[in-house]
Amino acid sequence: MHTSEGKDEEAPGRGPSRQVVIVGGSVAGLFAALAFSRQGHRVTLLEGERLPDCDSAVEAFERWERRGAPQARHSHAFLARLHNGIRDRTPDLYADLMAAGAETLPFSDLVEATFENPELIPEDDEIVLLACRRITLDWVLRRHVERATDTDYRDGVRVTGLLSETDEPSGLPRVKGVRFQEDSGEETTVEADLVVDASGRNTQLADWLKEIGSPPLEKDSEGCGIFYCSRFYRLRDGVETPPLEGPIGGDLGYLKYAIFLGDSRIFSITLAAAPSDDALRSVRDAAVFQAVTEALPTPGPWVDPAVSEPITDVYTYANLKNTLRHFAPEGRPLALGLYPIGDALLHQNPISGRGCTSAWISAWLAADCYAEHLDDPLAFAEKMNTEVQRQLVPWYANMLAQDRAAKERTGVDERGEDPFAFQREDGSIDPKAYMRSLLVEGLVPAMREDIVVTRAFMRIFNMLDDPSDLMAAPDLLARVMAVWGRRDEREPVRMGPNRSEMLEEIATASG
Ligand SMILES: Cc1cc2nc3c(=O)[nH]c(=O)nc-3n(C[C@H](O)[C@H](O)[C@H](O)COP(=O)(O)OP(=O)(O)OC[C@H]3O[C@@H](n4cnc5c(N)ncnc54)[C@H](O)[C@@H]3O)c2cc1C
Repeated sequence: MHTSEGKDEEAPGRGPSRQVVIVGGSVAGLFAALAFSRQGHRVTLLEGERLPDCDSAVEAFERWERRGAPQARHSHAFLARLHNGIRDRTPDLYADLMAAGAETLPFSDLVEATFENPELIPEDDEIVLLACRRITLDWVLRRHVERATDTDYRDGVRVTGLLSETDEPSGLPRVKGVRFQEDSGEETTVEADLVVDASGRNTQLADWLKEIGSPPLEKDSEGCGIFYCSRFYRLRDGVETPPLEGPIGGDLGYLKYAIFLGDSRIFSITLAAAPSDDALRSVRDAAVFQAVTEALPTPGPWVDPAVSEPITDVYTYANLKNTLRHFAPEGRPLALGLYPIGDALLHQNPISGRGCTSAWISAWLAADCYAEHLDDPLAFAEKMNTEVQRQLVPWYANMLAQDRAAKERTGVDERGEDPFAFQREDGSIDPKAYMRSLLVEGLVPAMREDIVVTRAFMRIFNMLDDPSDLMAAPDLLARVMAVWGRRDEREPVRMGPNRSEMLEEIATASG
């Protein structure tokens, strides 16, 4: 198949084949391996961490430490956009996930507890989350890539830099491959027509680019104002799965919580709070975590010791950031023959549950844009940048705005002010307080009263519709405003203990 120029002739039934090297073998790297292989390319995937072979997802959960991607041991929700993408573009992978015990969580189930006779429409079938542990996804995905593609998967090898030459017409560095270090310490190189950086949020890409003389790789980065604690539980033998009475997640202002349905009768609970909240930081302690979770309305019955038992420690993840790397500032790439995807490109507050979906989107974007511009690396990078700006950056911007608003709310609460008092003494309106009131006293109750609003919110949450659609749709805004207009008539909904009640629980559990 090789021609004298090192290019491939067309593979029968597929497009022309090229050598693609992927750095990082977690979700983004594995999705990319799948996407590029499906399009007929030869793929080499280089993963730093050596993961032991396991016969089941349950064994992988016990044995995979995931030092290279520690978040893989935390609760994960997989959004409908990811579920639908896997189902439609890679039905064989979808079948493998279901065979490994993954389940689906459709809109009809989610609204059952809230609406007595919900009026469902055909489009609601698109709103289906995928429920399984993150390690289960990684284990199934890796096995699938190894069995169903010709990917040359090498783990225990660490990429240390890029091979490049100068592209004469553009003057940009043209990446020709990577340097990597074997477990033994030996340095090796591999050539590539395209290098895909899927090495996660701590990618060394900026240093690698500097070494080959490209302009600096700039990034925007801002703290999410949150820390995360997750713990996994197994339902006891013979115990039926408890009903999901009430929302699967909630925001008490001082504490966010969610229950994540997994596979193999395992589920997890995540608690999140502001890093500045010293009292809440003690949820890292197993006894405090248990006491706080038992006090929460929906997760409480699930963690009852008669129903389930904890099977892990409490995992903590601090210093969370929203980060966007500008690989193609003003549309011009910093180098040719290279593109970052997944967390290496952008990552955001995990509370959004968007990370793996963004990894999926960026992996397929890379493969699809490459198929369109196989022999024009500049056009490939420009197209990729256009699509990233269109399909991913608006979500990032939306998360940044939400986090800034949440941090401001924390400040208002800490000062003991009314967060919703939007009418100033001089008669003018405080726009931030007004927005808070509209969201908390309008949108949140509207989601319990009006299925049209719930549907619109869930479509955006699941990355099926653009975040700007919610308040921009005149009909939706009117529905939310109608509920907001009745805010003084409504009994406040109790999502869980208030802060001082919870601090008492914490004090008792801390002994
Ligand atoms: C606490 C927490 C909770 C989260 N919850 C969710 C959720 O509910 N839903 C969701 O969709 N997302 C969630 N996310 C985000 C999600 O985990 C990430 O978006 C996702 O893991 C990104 O995948 P990735 O492949 O880009 O990077 P990673 O998963 O970080 O993987 C990078 C890989 O590259 C390897 N690597 C690094 N450097 C090198 C090198 N030099 N050479 C070779 N290999 C290298 C690493 O070993 C690793 O395997 C969460 C994140 C956090 C922190």
